[in-house]
Amino acid sequence: LLVEQDVEASMKVVVVGNGSVGKTSLIKRFCTNVFSDDYKKTIGVDFLEKELQLPELGTSVRMMLWDTAGQEEFDTITSNYYRGADAAVLAFASDNRDSFEKIRSWYQKVTKECGNIPMVLIQNKVDLIDQAQVRTDESEALATELKVRLYRTSVKQNLNVQEVFSFLAQTHLQRR
Ligand code: GDP
Ligand code: MG
Repeated sequence: LLVEQDVEASMKVVVVGNGSVGKTSLIKRFCTNVFSDDYKKTIGVDFLEKELQLPELGTSVRMMLWDTAGQEEFDTITSNYYRGADAAVLAFASDNRDSFEKIRSWYQKVTKECGNIPMVLIQNKVDLIDQAQVRTDESEALATELKVRLYRTSVKQNLNVQEVFSFLAQTHLQRR
């Protein structure tokens, strides 16, 4: 017996954080399951779409993941990028201390543009163990301070990527 699953909701997710932390890679991995080691500055694409199945809930959510088009310089991201966002991913990379230090500013920026929407904090590139510049307890403390859930991800190794978006989708369904 085949049961048709209806798309119950659609949501816009914005992904923010410093350049090169892995935002574009995260979106591509989730939407197309592709990973590339080549660093190319993001160009052009506004967003990618993915219909995420949530079998336990018997439903699915259409997710629109917005990419910053390489404009990570703070004030070059337009209000249009944030407009109507239902959730946000705050991303930094384990091997980049500065990207961690900037998370509070990204949090404030999202809050200013979008109000009190669900957010998650991701510590990406956890595969780069030898180059780590942020301790686990530091990222946990920041997540606690900002009252957001922390995911430690490796987009390269496909670690915890699905979990981030499943959590956001479920949170979105519960909030409606
Ligand atoms: P963005 O500027 O935040 O969009 O970052 P990109 O997605 O363009 O990624 C920057 C670089 O980091 C690319 O060379 C990616 O291949 C690499 N990268 C992304 N995620 C990971 C990861 O989890 N581990 C490692 N080792 N490299 C990653
Ligand atoms: Mg990018």
